Amino acid sequence: VGTELLLGQIVNTNAAEISRGLAAMGIDVYFHSVVGDNPQRMRSVIEAAMSRSDVVIVTGGLGPTPDDITRDALADVLGVKLVRHPRLVGMIQDVFKRMGRDMPEENRRQADIPDGARVIDPVGTAPGFWIEREGKLLFALPGVPWEMKAMLTETVLPELSRRSGQGVTLSREILVVGLGESRTYELIKAIVDEQTNPTIAFRADAGQVRVRMTAKAAGETEALELIAPIDQAIRARLGESAPQGHHSTAGEALVVLLQERGFTVAAAESLTGGLIGAELTRAPGSSDYFLGSLVCYSTDAKAKTAGVAEEILREKGPVSAEVAGALAEGAARSFDADLGVSATGVAGPEPQDGAPVGTIFIGATLHGHTETRHVRGYGDRSHVQRMAVTAALDLGRRLVARAQ
Ligand code: ATP
Ligand code: MG
Repeated sequence: VGTELLLGQIVNTNAAEISRGLAAMGIDVYFHSVVGDNPQRMRSVIEAAMSRSDVVIVTGGLGPTPDDITRDALADVLGVKLVRHPRLVGMIQDVFKRMGRDMPEENRRQADIPDGARVIDPVGTAPGFWIEREGKLLFALPGVPWEMKAMLTETVLPELSRRSGQGVTLSREILVVGLGESRTYELIKAIVDEQTNPTIAFRADAGQVRVRMTAKAAGETEALELIAPIDQAIRARLGESAPQGHHSTAGEALVVLLQERGFTVAAAESLTGGLIGAELTRAPGSSDYFLGSLVCYSTDAKAKTAGVAEEILREKGPVSAEVAGALAEGAARSFDADLGVSATGVAGPEPQDGAPVGTIFIGATLHGHTETRHVRGYGDRSHVQRMAVTAALDLGRRLVARAQ
């Protein structure tokens, strides 16, 4: 629910999040509907949804402002009144107290719940609720994505799982970096084509492919037992390109290894402009392994900041394997890190120094051993940059994994 969605001001990430959660449980999702903050149209969308599906999940419009009308619209469809819950008023007041503010009068409306509905306690200020009607379930969750997600995973999915009684559907992903989707498929085709449980699906994104195995079984242990041999067989064919463990990005795979070994990492980045550093600081506790990143965008900065020799820059050009190697070494040296990683290249839209858009050189150095790679990036500027981040972190991961 929300006019902002219809205007394209925000993207409907809640729908994607909910669908992923339901699909992982083996619940079929047949419709997504988006409707603005209008009582009549909201009513007709909810009525249609309830007439054709067993479960309806609504997000958004549970806030305190007059355009937040989901509560009223749902009560209207259900033919019940809204009831104010004093306990919820207290909880919302507490949120404001913690922020050192008085609760505005309008926020009391957020404690109004359709009569007979069960309350989902607020994670932020907006409570959610759910109700059963003629064997059908209707859930209402806040629009704010992290609040929505908390209620989805803690209340909605467990409730649906309990009721579906069809055992569990469980997925595990193998991350594959540096092979591309078709090559990955080629290598494991024989396994994929004969699998029915677990089923195997691919998802490619900026230089990484995720191979998702989804098993259906009576319980979690049984599902994992179905996945284990397939997981092993796939890894045996992909070798070093599939990091150990179940990670969703090359950065995560590297970080886990760094933590295991007690190694530190530093970066020197050109075309990624700080994105390698950003990726390495995403996880809490990153100060344990991440020391810093030199953003040396200009040719001059590569010499002055990362100490790349002037003649290498002159002879090989800033977009070259030699410079990528020297940048990685400069990063490790400047920060006194075990591992140095780097990326230099042409993000576009214009070619640079004779190198076409998408040319990427990455480097990594571990305890004096340096390697570089040439990667052919494609897509728009941001995609090329993300491919460079992935490739650089993955080369670092390979060096650390090999250093037993
Ligand atoms: P609040 O109490 O915070 O106002 P709410 O339930 O009223 O919550 P909305 O006002 O609909 O929620 O949305 C709050 C914000 O959450 C929006 O401005 C938007 O940034 C985000 N949001 C809402 N719906 C979605 C959605 N479907 N996908 C992604 N983000 C959303
Ligand atoms: Mg709102």
